[in-house]
Order: sequence, then C-alpha cells, then structure tokens
Amino acid sequence: MNRLLEVKGIGKVIAAKLAQEGIDTPEKLIERFPNRYLEKKISAFCCANIAETITLTGTITSMPKVTYIRKHLTKLTFQIRANDAEFSVSIFNREFLKNTCQIGAIVVVTGKFMHHFKQFTASEIVLKKNFQEGIEPIYHLKSLGSHQFHKIVQSAMLQTIAHMPETIPADLISKRELPSRSKLFSIVHSPKTMEEVHLATKRIKYEELLLFSLRIEAFKKLNQRIVKTPKSYRIDQIRQFIKTLPFELTTDQKEATNAIFMDLKAPKPMNRLLQGDVGSGKTICAIIAALAVVTAGYQVAFMSPTEILARQHYQTLQRYLEKEGIQPVFLTKNVTGAERQRVLEQMQNGTCSVIVGTHALIQDALVFHRLGMVVIDEQHRFGVNQRKALREKGGAPDCLFLSATPIPRSLAIALFGDMDISTIKSMPSGRQPIKTTIVGLDEFDSILPDIRQELDKGHQAYMICPLIAESDTMDLVSVSEATREIKKVLPKSVSIAMLHGKMKSEEKAKILDDFFQGNTAVLVSTTVVEVGLDCPNATVMIILNAERFGLAQIHQIRGRVGRGHSASSCYLIVNPELEIRDRLGILEKTNDGFQIAEADLDLRGPGEVFGEEQTGIPRFKMANMVRDIQLMEVAFADAKQLIDSPDPLSRVLVHTAISEIQAYFLD
Ligand code: ADP
Ligand code: MG
Repeated sequence: MNRLLEVKGIGKVIAAKLAQEGIDTPEKLIERFPNRYLEKKISAFCCANIAETITLTGTITSMPKVTYIRKHLTKLTFQIRANDAEFSVSIFNREFLKNTCQIGAIVVVTGKFMHHFKQFTASEIVLKKNFQEGIEPIYHLKSLGSHQFHKIVQSAMLQTIAHMPETIPADLISKRELPSRSKLFSIVHSPKTMEEVHLATKRIKYEELLLFSLRIEAFKKLNQRIVKTPKSYRIDQIRQFIKTLPFELTTDQKEATNAIFMDLKAPKPMNRLLQGDVGSGKTICAIIAALAVVTAGYQVAFMSPTEILARQHYQTLQRYLEKEGIQPVFLTKNVTGAERQRVLEQMQNGTCSVIVGTHALIQDALVFHRLGMVVIDEQHRFGVNQRKALREKGGAPDCLFLSATPIPRSLAIALFGDMDISTIKSMPSGRQPIKTTIVGLDEFDSILPDIRQELDKGHQAYMICPLIAESDTMDLVSVSEATREIKKVLPKSVSIAMLHGKMKSEEKAKILDDFFQGNTAVLVSTTVVEVGLDCPNATVMIILNAERFGLAQIHQIRGRVGRGHSASSCYLIVNPELEIRDRLGILEKTNDGFQIAEADLDLRGPGEVFGEEQTGIPRFKMANMVRDIQLMEVAFADAKQLIDSPDPLSRVLVHTAISEIQAYFLD
C-alpha cells in the first residue's frame, strides 16, 4: 500500500507523478527541499531598476488586450497606475487573466522593467486581495508545478511532522544552536523570515558534514585494525644513495621522506598523501621510499594515470635505481606476448622488485611475490574498491599517494581525512617563476616574436589543446587543426610534432622521446602532458581555449615549463568574446599552487577539481568544502566524540555513515 495515498490531496495521478520524482513515501515528500525562495514583498515604483525583478501594486487603467503572437504564444497587455507613475504591463500566455484584470482592479505585479520605465514584463499577476507578503519556496520538479507541490507538502506535513524522528543527538542540537528536525521542515517549506532560512540551511549543511566526518572517523578506526609486519630497511644504503643525488634534498623533502620511513617501520600500513606544487620534487621522495622497501626485501609497484607518464617514470626509476643494482620492469596494456609473460613471471617469482605501469596494474592478472608498497602518482585518492583490490594483491601494502593539486592543510584534512598528509611547500632552489599572460585569440600574432625568440635560443615549446569530447577522433581534429595553424606562422625550419589519443603507444613514445632529446621544437598535444612530464629545456607553454580548463588544471599544465634554470612563459589563449579574464586572472598574479587550488575549489567544487571518478570525495547537496570550512571543522570535532558514544541516536548516525564503506572490510 502506497502510504502517500493517505495524504490529503494525493490521489493515484499525483502519486504517480511523485513517483517519477523518486518520492514514494510521505517522509521523502517532506525531505524534498525547495530549490530556492522567492521573497514576496511589495516595493515602491521609485525602487525599481531596469532588468531587476520587483513587485509593485497599482490600479488598472485600461481594458486588457490579448495579442496572438504565434501558436502557443499570447500576450496580455494593460495600463496600470502605481505610485503616481503610469506604465504598461504585459504577461505571456495568461490570456485567462483577461477577466480578472478589469479597469479599476487593484493588482500586484511581479516582473521587471525591460528597457525603460514605461514597459513592465510580468511573470506573476494577482489581485491585491489575494496577495500575501512572505517568502515563497520554489520547487523545480519535472512533473508537478511548484504551487501544487507546495500544497501537497503542507498537507503531508500536517499528518507526518509529529512522526519525523530527530536524527541529531540533543546535546549537539543545543551546543551548535540548530533547529530541531521537525522545526527544520516547517521552516524549509514555509519560512517566515530569511534568517530562519539561514538557520535551516545551517542545520542541513551541518548534518551533511557530520555524516561525512563520521565516515572518515570510522574509516580511520577500521584502518587501524589492519596490521602489517614493520619493514626493516637498510638505512646505511639509503643514506649513501641520498648522498649521490645530483642535488641536495630540500627541507620539506627531507621531512616528507622521514615521515614515510616512520610509516614503513610502523605496524600498520602507510596511507600517506604527499602533496606539493608541480615541480616541487615529489618523485625523488617516492624513489627513496621505493629503495628502502626493496632493501627490506619487498616489491614496489609504481602506478601512473597515463601510459606516457608511466613510461617517463620508468626511465627515471631506471636511471636512479640502476646503480643500486635494481632493474625495474614496465607493464601496461600495450606490453604483450613474450615480454608480458616475462614481466608477470618475474613479479610472481620475485626476481624483480620494482614494477612501473598505469593504474590498471591493480586490475591486472599480476601476482606479486611479496608486495610491500604501492606508489600512486597524480591521483588524490583511491576508491574503496581499488584499495580492496590492492589488499588482495599482497597482504597490506604501504600506500603512498602523490598529488599535484596542493591544498591548504585544513581543507586537505577535510578532504582526505583518513590519510596522513605530507606537504612540500618550498620549490628546489634556482627555479624561475613562470610568467603567465592571458591573450585573446585575435591577438595571437602579438606573442609570436617572443615564441620565436625562445625557439631561436634552442628552447622548446608545448601547445596544448583541450579535449573537445570524450572521443579520440575529435581530439585528433583539434590537434591537427592547431598544428596546421602554428605551422603557418612559424618558419619552415622549426620542427613541429603532434601527439593525441588516437596514436599507438609506440608512436607516442617515439614522439615524446624526440621531444625530450630536443629533436622536435614544438609539441602540439592534448592534455596528456598535463601530469608529471618533465622536460627542463621547454620554456614556452601555449594553452589554447584556456577557458575550457579549470584553474588547478592550467596550473598543472603550465608546470611542464619552468623546470630548468631559464625563465619560462605561459600564454593562455582565450576566446575574446567570453568574459573569462576575471576567472583566469589569478593565474597571471600568482604561481602559488595552494592559492590557485583554493580558488578553483571555491569556484567548481572538489568533484570537478579532482575528477568525478575520485570516489570518496563527497558530493554535498548544500555544504561547500571551501566556504563552509569552519562548520566542517566543528563537524569533525563532533564526529570524534560521537563515534564511540553509546547514545542510540549516535549509533544510528554512525551506522548510516559507515554503511557504504563496509564493503571494504568484508572479505
Ligand atoms: P613533481 O613534484 O611535479 O612530481 P618532480 O618530482 O618531477 O616534480 O621534480 C621536478 C624536477 O625537480 C625533476 O627534474 C627533479 O630531478 C628535480 N628536483 C627534485 N628535487 C630537487 C632538489 N631538491 N633540488 C633540485 N632539483 C630537484
Ligand atoms: Mg610528478
């Protein structure tokens, strides 16, 4: 029996419509919050501004006229006198109001003056006697009008509100000054003041954040149950290795490395996020850790998001580890046949200790002899299922995540609360800041002399095109088009190569090799070079259609230059018609990845910045990770208390919070 039918005003037809909205109980009906509120308040004519919504009252002074503009489009027009001003009012598709809007009738009109104060376009017209000042909740629904829905909710509230159980423990409600749950519903569906709305919003956000914090607390607790054998690595060999590096580690790098060593020695698996701006030198920290793990007699898997990056890491690891007598192997889906067989065998029988590949390594048929640590590059978080898959690969390996979207500590704790975090703040010495300039596509020629000058010096340039669609074919189009255009304006002697998703992996590897060797001067490419690639001789970065990228993403892309000792520049080519300069302006002003990431998170939210597939990043209905950081800190503190509280309401909350992470621990 559908309990919705017991609500006064709901019959079969409406129940079916509600079902389309995913509403099948009176409780869900009440939990459907308005999308926004309309403040209904009569203003005076003198307060009106062009193109701003306002509500006015006046007396009709002319017979209403209906014009038929075309099929399904009519316009009702009449004259009105309000506060000694006289103007004409029109409203579309409400010809039925003709009888109501007679001369002498006093009406209330909501709408805006479009071009001058003689003509008012209304969205709402009611008789003054039927008008009520107040705040109207607006619901956006596919199958039902807002008014009708509001009426149904009101009626459901009368019957149900007494049975809506509280979800937050009473002491927290009073400590955090929140409205009770039943009060919450009567506020959201019929608020009296906007202050009330803010109070209700605060409770909704708090509850979302509290559940999120509880989930993290629970995850931490469950993680503590997993134990591992502490690793005893050979410290003398590592010290020696660090001494032979071509540079001195920065203080932050040393600190991060020390923290990693503590984790290796601990009886629980490492779960550490190493964050630092692009080019801050995270890789070497991971390599030192890898060496330590190998000296302790374990294997290491090094995973990158793209094949190109994996290949580069492979070369870097080879270069560093060779002299330690370690020969890494490489595995991606493109390694096939006898070579693949050999790699799989070596990993299984333990004759090889370091494997480098893409993130697909964990889904692979790969069997480890004795997996000790996994390094996950350029991924901020691993989903629950991926972590589970990892554990199945080899006991409880230590996990080190490298992230190049550095964010302020409080936010990092909020986002990655169940991880330990190390941050590399300072850049290796000798780096020159990148000079960034926003350039309209129509002014492209003005930057050509600078680009040519750099190329003449023997430096190299990247030109990045956005991924137009998920389809490789479209990428190809945009990359070949850009290549054609740049060829037209650069001398014939400049060698230009292009790189895109449609290419075979050997072909890609060859093109990148040529670029790293300096045989190609300009590399036109999609965002595959966004992450990690390291070519110190490249000093020019041109980003086409920069308006299509997020701030943090552009910052990462431009981090491909400025890696050597020469000054570098980055040009953000934008569509001059779009008002984009404000948003991208921060990139001209600062090279500080922390500030940029924060601005980006504020603009777009964590799901967009870190990528949707990064499970574990919460999608809040109302809370905002950047703006509500204080409320989040409060929620975190409360969650710590609540997690072990015997109070029944707290138990229910904890249970709700952890229901979706349990899969991880149920073997
Ligand atoms: P990211 O943090 O973006 O992954 P990388 O690890 O690729 O950065 O490092 C960028 C470059 O800086 C590499 O060429 C690396 O050899 C170099 N590098 C790393 N640490 C130092 C250091 N302490 N001093 C000088 N150069 C360094
Ligand atoms: Mg890197």
